Amino acid sequence: MIKTDIIIIGAGPVGLFTVFEAGLLKLKCHLIDALPVPGGQCAEIYPKKPIYDIPGYPEVLAGDLVDNLMKQISPFDPGFTLGETALSIEKTQNDHFIVTTKQGTKHQAPVVAIAGGLGVFIPRKPPIQNISNFENKGINYIVKDPEVFQNKKIVISGGGDSALDWALYFANDNTNEVTLIHRSQQFRAHPDSVQKAMDMANNGKLKMILDSEVIGLKGKDHLEQITIKTKGGENSTVDTDYWLPLFGLTPKLGPIANWGLEIEKNAIVVDNSTDYSTNIDGIYAIGDVNTYPGKLKLILCGFHEATIMVQSAFKRIYPNKNHVLKYTTVTGIVGFDNK
Ligand SMILES: Cc1cc2nc3c(=O)[nH]c(=O)nc-3n(C[C@H](O)[C@H](O)[C@H](O)COP(=O)(O)OP(=O)(O)OC[C@H]3O[C@@H](n4cnc5c(N)ncnc54)[C@H](O)[C@@H]3O)c2cc1C
Repeated sequence: MIKTDIIIIGAGPVGLFTVFEAGLLKLKCHLIDALPVPGGQCAEIYPKKPIYDIPGYPEVLAGDLVDNLMKQISPFDPGFTLGETALSIEKTQNDHFIVTTKQGTKHQAPVVAIAGGLGVFIPRKPPIQNISNFENKGINYIVKDPEVFQNKKIVISGGGDSALDWALYFANDNTNEVTLIHRSQQFRAHPDSVQKAMDMANNGKLKMILDSEVIGLKGKDHLEQITIKTKGGENSTVDTDYWLPLFGLTPKLGPIANWGLEIEKNAIVVDNSTDYSTNIDGIYAIGDVNTYPGKLKLILCGFHEATIMVQSAFKRIYPNKNHVLKYTTVTGIVGFDNK
């Protein structure tokens, strides 16, 4: 049993910053995340994209923001259970919570902060029978590390922003042979990106195959070839190292939806006039996962919610202690174990 002061479900930017604000109050945290690495959407969906609305950073790559948050919380020595989905929650007789993951790891604390974002991301997969044989062996639904694809033949499918952004990214990097396949002539992506892709196709930097879709996959231990079907019904094959079907990710709240919390449109209802508490005493919800009148799903709003929430958690854990807010410029950072 892992014991701590606050169990944080979700190691996205908001969950990570919670560790810092809790640490200032000498509260220890343990984070659980279904993903194998911390960072939530920033790490999973757009690590190489710049963010422009983090106060004090005119521009910061999402991946660098996560690295900086990890550095900022390191004095407070958080625990991590990564690659495990929080499955169930139960209340003990002494008013603590036990959160158990799918893999059976148990965590106990007087306070739970749900920072589960949009939930667990499920990619929209094309209906090809043997697709699972090639997942992470030539087929990727998300581009996490673009360097993996350098000097490779890449086929990208999709007509939205993600497909177009990555097609442009790889085609700009002259080391790649890039093909974009889309089942229609019309794109959902930003018109500017569509125009850039058309220009690149005309200059021979990007191969574009429209009114077509991938229907077959071949390879031994790794993807080697795809079969494409046109709207007219003709089939052709293309040799490739990678196929990236970028048809979007569907967020699912997942097991948290069954914990007896008040849910509205796939989000947890909280009291934003006080402390982001849920309808269950001792469970809070912060960041993208919560909803209240005027809610904005932005990182900086999640940071604010985390800051308010830990003050309330402190009062719950130490009802008889008085906490006086002090500036970090006065206190400095005093970590755990004198870190
Ligand atoms: C392409 C893109 C661009 C964006 N640009 C900006 C921007 O410029 N500025 C801005 O402010 N915001 C931006 N956002 C939004 C921003 O990323 C989110 O507001 C932010 O990630 C929310 O942080 P979070 O920690 O609440 O949740 P998330 O980052 O979603 O992290 C939640 C974590 O919880 C985990 N989780 C969920 N359920 C469970 C469970 N049951 N068990 C274990 N783990 C679980 C998930 O795996 C995930 O890692 C952008 C989003 C996208 C997709």
